Amino acid sequence: MMTGIRDPLLFCKFLLEKVKAAGVRIHNPAAALRLETDINGKLSGVVIKNTETSEETSIPATKVLLAAGSWTPQVFNTLFKDRFSIDIPIGGLGGHSLVLKAPSKVTTCHSIYTTMDAHSPEIYSRPNGEIYVAGVNSPGLAVPEPALKAATMNQPLEKLKDIARRLIVTPSGEDLEIVREGLCFRPVTVRGTPYIARLTDEKLAEDTSLKEGEEGGVFIAAGHGPWGISLSLGTGKVVAEMLSGKPLSVDISSLGFLDGHLR
Ligand SMILES: Cc1cc2nc3c(=O)[nH]c(=O)nc-3n(C[C@H](O)[C@H](O)[C@H](O)COP(=O)(O)OP(=O)(O)OC[C@H]3O[C@@H](n4cnc5c(N)ncnc54)[C@H](O)[C@@H]3O)c2cc1C
Repeated sequence: MMTGIRDPLLFCKFLLEKVKAAGVRIHNPAAALRLETDINGKLSGVVIKNTETSEETSIPATKVLLAAGSWTPQVFNTLFKDRFSIDIPIGGLGGHSLVLKAPSKVTTCHSIYTTMDAHSPEIYSRPNGEIYVAGVNSPGLAVPEPALKAATMNQPLEKLKDIARRLIVTPSGEDLEIVREGLCFRPVTVRGTPYIARLTDEKLAEDTSLKEGEEGGVFIAAGHGPWGISLSLGTGKVVAEMLSGKPLSVDISSLGFLDGHLR
C-alpha cells in the first residue's frame, strides 16, 4: 500500500487542465436554476445562471448528476421541487483552516494528527514551503449560500492560530506568517458514507419524466464527509461508468437507497 499527501489546490488545478483538454466546458461561478423539458414533457436540459453577470444558459441534458456537496439538498429542491418523493439528508460540518509559511525549509513532507483542547489538529508540511493546519470544527454553523470563498469566523480561527503557535516552533520565537485563512463545509450524512446512486424513476411524480433506461436519469454523488478529496477520483470513475451505462468497477450497492430511502 502507498501513502501520500495531496495538495488539494494543485490537485484541482491539475484536474481542471485535464478536463478542459478533454473538451469539458466549465461554467463558474454558476447556480443551477431549473429543468427544461421537451415537447413530450421529458427532461431535456438544465438552465444555469452566472452568479456574477446573472446571464442564463441552457445546457442540453437528458441525465442530471446532483453533486453539490453540502448544498445538494438545496440544489435538488430548486430543480425538482416536489417532483421527487424523497429526502436528501446531507448536512454541512464547517471547519476552518490555515496555510502558514514554514519557519524553515521543508525537506520532508510530514502529516501529523494529534489531539489538543478537545480538538483534533491535523498538520501537513508541503514541498512549496507551506504548512496547512486544520482541525477546529464548528458543528452548529449553518451552511451559508455558496460563495467562492466562505467568510471565516474570528473565534475558531483564533483557536486554530493558538494551536498552530503551540505546535510549530519558529527559530527566534517570532510569530507565524499566515498565507491564507479558510472555511469550508464537509458534506456529512448520518450513516457516514456518501450517496452514490441513481434516483429511482418510480419516485418521479407525474409531471416529470425521463428518457427510458440508459438514455435518461437523475443521479447523486454527494455526502463524502471528511474524505471527499481522497474519494474524488474513485467517485468520478464510478459515476462516469454509471451515467454511461457501463459495468461498474466496484460494488456501490451499499451507497444507495436503503429500504427506499437515503439515510
Ligand atoms: C477543514 C477541512 C479539511 C478537510 N480535509 C480533507 C482531507 O484531508 N482529505 C479529504 O479527502 N477530504 C477533506 N475534507 C473534505 C472535502 O473537502 C469534502 O469532502 C469535499 O470537498 C466534498 O466535495 P464535493 O465536490 O462533494 O463538495 P464541495 O467541495 O463542497 O463542492 C460543492 C460545490 O457545489 C457548488 N454549488 C452549491 N450550490 C450550487 C448551485 N445551486 N448550483 C450549482 N453549484 C452549486 C458549490 O459552489 C461547490 O463548488 C476536508 C474538509 C474540510 C472542511
